[in-house]
Amino acid sequence: MSRYEQTEFPFAKSTPRRRRGLPRVARRLPAVDDEAARQRLERRIAVHLIPGRVALAVTDNRYTMISVKREKGPLYRVRLHHMFLDADPTLVRTLANYIVHNDTAASDELGRFIDENQLKIRRARRRKQVSVTLETRGEVHDLQELFESLNARYFNRSIDARITWGQRNAKRRRRNSIKMGSYSVEDRLIRIHPSLDRRFVPRFFVEWIVYHEMLHQVHDIPLVAGRRIFHTSEFLQQEAQFEHFERARRWERAFLNRLLHY
Ligand SMILES: [Zn+2]
Repeated sequence: MSRYEQTEFPFAKSTPRRRRGLPRVARRLPAVDDEAARQRLERRIAVHLIPGRVALAVTDNRYTMISVKREKGPLYRVRLHHMFLDADPTLVRTLANYIVHNDTAASDELGRFIDENQLKIRRARRRKQVSVTLETRGEVHDLQELFESLNARYFNRSIDARITWGQRNAKRRRRNSIKMGSYSVEDRLIRIHPSLDRRFVPRFFVEWIVYHEMLHQVHDIPLVAGRRIFHTSEFLQQEAQFEHFERARRWERAFLNRLLHY
């Protein structure tokens, strides 16, 4: 076994197979940051790995449901989609088999589980979508158009999110800080501060803010020493790949003061 090896387990591209009987699926979707549930599953997997150790991270990835990195020890760094949090004992054993031996039977079994849950999660997400009035067409910038253009250029159209301008206030004032964009994992909703919808704000700058928020759907938010890391090194690396990265940062430094007046 090599010291560094990574296996990934993407969502099956095929249409999910129909199965007889009740699918083994959790009735509710656990919160991603359910730390107690993560620790519980980590312990349940660890039982099967002796003498190996496992470090488990729970994700809300769209495409990679399982990834395993093997390090000296052996230590298995495992990233699992939260659909596995309530896995039954048989599935936990299968997971352990897959983690240690990468075996085909285990892989098939996990594939079926993922197929079933993929559908459930999508339906639940659609149901759960909060109703917000989306205001995508601003006075200067059309967020939907920006989003779609970025989605095509950088993400192979894989980002599934809604986007809107944030609330506009009637009164202008000088702020101490400004949150130019946000992304809600639960609602898959990107909000962009209306301060950016002004003539002096160039398209590449709004694009950069939108791009950043879109990246939040791609990257995990690991818990490290009890703290959520929103901008991991992988995140920052990909962020720097934005075409006008340096230009956008320079523009921000030069115009931050004007953005704060809103
Ligand atoms: Zn961010």
